[in-house]
Amino acid sequence: MENRRVRLRFAPSPTGGLHMGGVRTALFCYLFAKKHKGDFILRIEDTDQTRYVRGAEEYIIESLKWCGIEPNEGVGFGDGTYAPYRQSERKELGIYKKYADQLVADGHAYYAFDTAEELDAMRKRLEAAKVAAPQYNAVTRQSMRNSLTLSEDEVKKLLAAGTPHVIRLKVPRNEEIRFHDIIRGWVVVNSTQVDDKVLLKSDGMPTYHLAHIVDDIEMEISHAVRGEEWLPSAPAHVLIYRFLGREGNMPLLAHLPLILKPDGNGKLSKRDKSGIPMFPLNWYDERTGESYIGYRETGFFPEAFVNMLAMLGWNPGTPQEIFSMEELIQAFSFERVNKSGAKFDPEKTKWFNQQYLRKKSDKELAELFLPILKEKLKTTSASYQQPTTDYIEGVCRLVKEKSHFVSEFWDAGSYFFIAPANYDAEVIKKRWNDASANFMKNVTESFKNVNTFTAAETEANFKKTAEAQAIPPGQVMQLLRVCVSGVGGGPMLFEIIELLGKEEVIKRLEKAITVISQKIQPSTKAL
Ligand code: GLU
Repeated sequence: MENRRVRLRFAPSPTGGLHMGGVRTALFCYLFAKKHKGDFILRIEDTDQTRYVRGAEEYIIESLKWCGIEPNEGVGFGDGTYAPYRQSERKELGIYKKYADQLVADGHAYYAFDTAEELDAMRKRLEAAKVAAPQYNAVTRQSMRNSLTLSEDEVKKLLAAGTPHVIRLKVPRNEEIRFHDIIRGWVVVNSTQVDDKVLLKSDGMPTYHLAHIVDDIEMEISHAVRGEEWLPSAPAHVLIYRFLGREGNMPLLAHLPLILKPDGNGKLSKRDKSGIPMFPLNWYDERTGESYIGYRETGFFPEAFVNMLAMLGWNPGTPQEIFSMEELIQAFSFERVNKSGAKFDPEKTKWFNQQYLRKKSDKELAELFLPILKEKLKTTSASYQQPTTDYIEGVCRLVKEKSHFVSEFWDAGSYFFIAPANYDAEVIKKRWNDASANFMKNVTESFKNVNTFTAAETEANFKKTAEAQAIPPGQVMQLLRVCVSGVGGGPMLFEIIELLGKEEVIKRLEKAITVISQKIQPSTKAL
């Protein structure tokens, strides 16, 4: 075990879009594999043909790529040393049947010929007898039609006649099954609680239980990492490894904690209504006709999404919260993954995006904002001047502080591009009167004499004008803001003024004074 190459697989079933819980599993596998200079493999577990969804595989691959959690081996990746990586293709090669036959030959599995009706009748019988969890097991199999109850001859005949049958695991009665989970420690289960799981279905397809073990063996997987929902079947898996003579070098197991709803009440579902997406990318489920919005399309940065996911159930043991992928790789270990469920926090998720937004350069942000800006300007009927790249970068610099997403930039700063036509009514009502109108006129006039129209110069000039009229600047600042931007809040006022530039600011002030004086019933309140 010690010298084994670290090889982890992410093994999704293409039964739908990849939920963020699945992405987290992939991420943890990736981080661990990279940390130990090992392999991260993508295997597609498509043995359940009835649940196969078209487009799901492509979606999974695109999602992993967007997140930067790229496999170095697997479906669509690597040189194919352990190919094929799709279970349906592996089935064609007879890989699973070989193992199932071996288990039968060694007396650890058996043929079962029971029809659906017979199984149903058994379940009803057990329910009538008040058996809490009716199952096919060491006791009940004795009264069913299988190769343990039928004579050898009969079994041969049934098989030769092509009678539909499955292969079941022969779980021993009342035996202790012990296994170690890196996150949960030692787990002990009595075999009475384990049913005789189907290993090979009547169509020759392996079930998940057999297929993933065979593949983990053949692909030399060192660690099997998956969601907590698989923990109850782990004892059966340990038995299969044992029966195949491989319990001693089976992959190390790690079952990740659930991701819980924001209120901690139950598992997070793909229909969560927190307003934050549950899927990495937009997903349309053609079976149900439901569509889901993705993190990508909502405007999340992949780095922020990944950082947030890493913190769902794992902690570095320090107060650090912001981690690049490289830092996550260095810091990650399964020992620091919690056993208990991790609460999903929509606000914190936005906070992560905000942290990454602030870290981006104005140039990068301007590039991201440009398509949105073009679209908005295309549909406006107001006149505006085509902004320069420098100007757009300047806007990004000012509006990014209070935004979580680039998509908020337009609402936060449309006035940088289009002069206001309306002015915040609350502020006007509270602050506008003859005296303030007069004051704004003085400000406008004195701004005309400011030569270097910087934030510092205009601020000093504004304060001087206020002092000359014995007005505390704080009382008229917001009015100035409303006159130039139309709105009562936003980035640093004099930074806005500097960016708009002298000519534009003076034009806006003159317009505001006229429009407001005409339209608004003057307040009788003195300044
Ligand atoms: N196909 C299983 C799933 O989609 C994989 C579980 C495992 O990793 O063993 O959850």
